[in-house]
Amino acid sequence: MKNLAHRNIPITIVGGGIHGISIALRLLRDVPTAARHIAIVDRHPQPLTEWRLKTERQGMTFLRSPAVHHLTPDPLGIVEYAERHNRTHELAPPYSQPSTELFWDFCNGALAELTKYPIYYQFEVAKLRWDKGAGKYPFRLISTDNAGFRSSCVILAIGAIDCAYVPPEFAEWQRRYSDKIVHASQFSVNCKQGQEDSGKIVIVGGGLTAGTLARSLSERGHHVVLIARKQLKTEQFDFPPIWLGPKALAEFASETDLQRRYQIIKENRGEGSITPDVMETLENSANISICPETHICSIVSTQGLLQVETTRGVITDISRIILATGYKFNLRRYGFLRELIRQYPIPPVCGLPKLDINLQFYPIENLFGSGTVAQLQIGPASGNIAGANLAYERFREKLLAQLP
Ligand SMILES: Cc1cc2nc3c(=O)[nH]c(=O)nc-3n(C[C@H](O)[C@H](O)[C@H](O)COP(=O)(O)OP(=O)(O)OC[C@H]3O[C@@H](n4cnc5c(N)ncnc54)[C@H](O)[C@@H]3O)c2cc1C
Repeated sequence: MKNLAHRNIPITIVGGGIHGISIALRLLRDVPTAARHIAIVDRHPQPLTEWRLKTERQGMTFLRSPAVHHLTPDPLGIVEYAERHNRTHELAPPYSQPSTELFWDFCNGALAELTKYPIYYQFEVAKLRWDKGAGKYPFRLISTDNAGFRSSCVILAIGAIDCAYVPPEFAEWQRRYSDKIVHASQFSVNCKQGQEDSGKIVIVGGGLTAGTLARSLSERGHHVVLIARKQLKTEQFDFPPIWLGPKALAEFASETDLQRRYQIIKENRGEGSITPDVMETLENSANISICPETHICSIVSTQGLLQVETTRGVITDISRIILATGYKFNLRRYGFLRELIRQYPIPPVCGLPKLDINLQFYPIENLFGSGTVAQLQIGPASGNIAGANLAYERFREKLLAQLP
């Protein structure tokens, strides 16, 4: 942080996750000298920390997306890396999905390139200010320890990790049994938490997070009950791949009603689905019971364990309930944007900001978004790895114009 204080930075990326790093790598490919003019700020000391935590905590072994979607601008980068290191067996059929380890090692190689330059700073943004008309560097970023710097342009690549979704009916149960009911983002299959669970583990949700957790926990000897509101659905991808192509995106852009766009995203991502390989394990594991089309009616505690009453019967002796209920982006959850939103009303639609075609926050000039925050422009692929490239193409020219 020391190095950033009181400096003027042409381009600041808030968020050093897959999106923030991908954008920086693309900028450096286009203008190699840009390294002197970019800062990536993140609350974590190391880039990609959230990715590493998310995948390790669930025990995820393979990515869902194909090998062509990764961190760097070369589509074949990870395949060539696998060939160079004799690791092609870590590209799974049918779409060469990379193993999590292969993906991580490849990312580390790309990060080593990036961190040759002083680009990445541990800095949690507590306030973002925009002094309209205040010269070349109108943005002011202030950290939690009250240090600050100025920037010409800011890209928000903040993911959705701060927006874990707990269905309203669970809020009171979670408050009452906070040591036993956790959101999936707070749980790790590897930590003491999981090992200490002697009773059954109930997982609530029907998506890949629920499926992967169930598989990982059953492999570690736990008896798992998976409760889903609907029938479980098997799909390789979490959205139809047409959403990466120009035709679907042009149709999406022609929809002027943003509420309708939000509906289209929901319809195309569905309420979650599970990849064929994970589904096969779930169906064949003696340790996993699946309860589809089931609702939880009540949760009570008896003798230190939980008991769940569902629409299909009662489940007893539960030591933990994991809510694999996803994330629901809401701009208002981000405290560092509060002042900005108050000063320059950014009208949210279903929690998401209205961005222009270049992913610029209306009405703030040179504030851009990538990832889940940009869904209303980029569509169902926005929060995925592939969304970073789609986002970069939209604001590329605007970013290049910021470089001296
Ligand atoms: C388990 C799991 C598996 C997934 N697998 C795939 C897959 O196979 N393929 C695919 O395409 N997608 C996948 N996704 C979806 C998505 O690609 C990933 O979640 C991806 O990590 C999103 O990247 P991101 O950069 O948008 O967000 P994040 O990785 O969450 O990064 C956002 C960063 O912003 C930082 N930040 C936020 N607020 C502030 C602040 N105020 N100050 C400083 N820093 C801040 C955070 O610390 C964080 O590091 C998966 C998601 C999960 C949960």
